[in-house]
Amino acid sequence: MFSTIAIDGPAGSGKSTIGAAVTQALGYVYFDTGVMYRCVALAALERDIDPEDEAAVSALAQTLRIDVRAPSIDDGRQYTILLDDHDVTWSLRSRDVEAYVSTVAAYPEVRTAMVRQQRDAAASADMVMVGRDIGTVVMPGAAVKIYLTATAEERARRRQTELMQRGVNASYEEVLTGVRKRDAIDSQRVTSPLRPADDAITVDSTGLSVDEVVVAVLKIVATKENAHGS
Ligand code: C5P
Repeated sequence: MFSTIAIDGPAGSGKSTIGAAVTQALGYVYFDTGVMYRCVALAALERDIDPEDEAAVSALAQTLRIDVRAPSIDDGRQYTILLDDHDVTWSLRSRDVEAYVSTVAAYPEVRTAMVRQQRDAAASADMVMVGRDIGTVVMPGAAVKIYLTATAEERARRRQTELMQRGVNASYEEVLTGVRKRDAIDSQRVTSPLRPADDAITVDSTGLSVDEVVVAVLKIVATKENAHGS
């Protein structure tokens, strides 16, 4: 049986950076589940489907072919995402997608379709799986569950820096408003709301460097492995 390390937390808490570093340290496979919900939002926008139209978006989600592959181009990407065979790796990060992703991710039928594929992936390799509901819903039996968090202000600062590095100009206030809005939708939705699993260990990364957080997470993994006698 393969092992899953679940890392959940709000937007901008550093899940992808930390998740990728932990994956490399452990020699596991990395899976950022947020890309799947981003694919649904992007596909809806590209096909002129109103993201508020739950029935239409839910039907669309059943038809999408989402493939996560090793990076195909050396342009700073962590992976290549193919949506129905098109490379959408960077389009998934657009502001339009960011504005609507939490709306489509709240639809139960969208989640069912995505969770099914996530569980299939987890059954095929030792994996670090990053998202909002991995420890609570997708893989409740995960070997290790981390809930990574940071203040909204710090998360907005990180997002803004990330956007600027990609040449996207956005004011701090605009990014902070977006982060707070996504937090609210993600934690208040009825299906699989963002919350730490009862047995998750919370790591607050506010004021910590990436290296410090990676060390803290690896320590938790080692402690859990020792406790299980492996
Ligand atoms: O992690 P990322 O910012 O890419 O996630 C985008 C959005 O996808 C989140 O704001 C959330 O609405 C949704 N999501 C989710 N469940 C997951 C991963 C992401 O609902 N497991």
